[in-house]
Amino acid sequence: MHGTYTLRGAARNFIGGEWIAEAETMPAVNPATGETIGALPKSSRETAAKAVAAAKAAAPSWAATPVFKRAEMCVAIGAAIDAEREAIARLLSLEQGKILAEAMGEVGKAADGFRLAAELVKQMGGQTLPAEDPTKLVMTLRQPRGVYGVITPWNFPVNIPVEYLAPGIATGNAIVWVPAPSTSLVACALMEVIEKAGLPAGVVNLVIGEGATAGDAVVVHKDVAAIGFTGSAATGRRIAERGAGKPMLLELGGNGPVIVYEDADLDAAAAAAAGGAFFNAGQVCAATGRVLAHFSIVDDLCAKLTVHAQKHVLGDPFHQGTTMGPLNNAKVAAKVKEHVDDAVANGATVLAGGKPRPDLGGSLYFEPTIVRGVTREMKLNREETFGPVVPVIAFKDEAEALDLALDSDYGLSVGVFTRDVARGVEVAKAIPAGIVNINSGSTYWEIHLPFGGGSNTKSGIGRLGGMHTMEAMTELKMVTVTIDPKAAAR
Ligand code: NAD
Repeated sequence: MHGTYTLRGAARNFIGGEWIAEAETMPAVNPATGETIGALPKSSRETAAKAVAAAKAAAPSWAATPVFKRAEMCVAIGAAIDAEREAIARLLSLEQGKILAEAMGEVGKAADGFRLAAELVKQMGGQTLPAEDPTKLVMTLRQPRGVYGVITPWNFPVNIPVEYLAPGIATGNAIVWVPAPSTSLVACALMEVIEKAGLPAGVVNLVIGEGATAGDAVVVHKDVAAIGFTGSAATGRRIAERGAGKPMLLELGGNGPVIVYEDADLDAAAAAAAGGAFFNAGQVCAATGRVLAHFSIVDDLCAKLTVHAQKHVLGDPFHQGTTMGPLNNAKVAAKVKEHVDDAVANGATVLAGGKPRPDLGGSLYFEPTIVRGVTREMKLNREETFGPVVPVIAFKDEAEALDLALDSDYGLSVGVFTRDVARGVEVAKAIPAGIVNINSGSTYWEIHLPFGGGSNTKSGIGRLGGMHTMEAMTELKMVTVTIDPKAAAR
């Protein structure tokens, strides 16, 4: 397709600075049409182990490379991404299904992510600490953890990898990256651009394949010091078990409520809730998982949400005028349909959309959907739908709103709409989510801000974003110096 990033050869693994083919392959598919658009390596556990060995070999010299040189490399990678921004964005649209405007935004943010890591690593320091013992000088150092395993999903297949790759490279780690199979062409494109910017061989190694094989081999490998994983709660749990004892960043699912009180600006609430459900066809961990609306405004809010849903033009992301593309894969498409069907079968009402649209050219299109009358036990309320659906649940008072919000296994991101900011802050304090946005939707975040799941929820462990990732990807080492050993002995 015109202007789309073209890989230098077939999609291959990148190990120790070499592009290497794998005997077994799997297809790359265009979700808009179902057409095969390439062949991908289906890497074995042995291939993953070779990538770990390459990272291990590269780790000491990269760790020893001065911080300012590593920062320069991140700036160079950011510029290299910018230079290919539109071409990469087109490949991202082709393989992931998102519209080009969203893909352009994603690739632009990826370049920003490298520049941010370059800035932060130059400011990252340890501390000197007071000690009871007067003969001691106590300090802390930040050191790379070594070989870092990074496993990423398909919903933001450029940005999410960069959330680990940029701080990982900046802080001196060597990385083995296993991207989601359904977005591995764009992973190859990003890897090519990083290589072209001059990253030394072995600092980032790309292994394409199924998570349960290639990803698992990385998680359990004895030479992999730490794991960064973004994906589903179920896989996150498995990785936590398989890699028990390793430091981990686990960024998992969400089912973020957007709570709309009776005093809210309903236009703003409807726009944010719809935006958070339809952006990227709803395949966003912080998406509007459900809307909890006060009974007195629920009719108005539903009317406004319906207008937003009906404005969207569903179709091939490359067609003129399309505002929402297909879902990325059959698994997510089946789940979205199952959740909507379950709600309808149990008495909910579809106000807009509600159906798959195979007539649009493939099996993965699902209409922007508003469902009213959702109840607690419905899958739309209980589980993460990960599609373009706004389930609306009415509440009668503040206590019920909070109870509904808290009645969830997830705790990632929440939106609260009220003109009473004190009430908003009370809700923010009460909900065990990592992020609460008052008077904006659940998806608001910027790349330097802390992002992650609340404690004892299924949404993950740790915080991504800016200095938080830099800290998570480094070892905090305490070093003490006995200034006067003779005095210490006395
Ligand atoms: P997934 O868990 O199915 O897959 C994620 C990655 O894990 C893929 O690369 C996959 O190949 C790999 N994988 C699968 N099984 C594995 C195993 N046994 N061992 C190691 N790796 C394995 O998730 P998905 O469907 O690709 O992504 C969607 C999910 O990601 C949603 O739940 C979404 O909420 C979540 N997500 C979270 C965030 C966040 O920052 N919290 C961001 C984006 C997506």
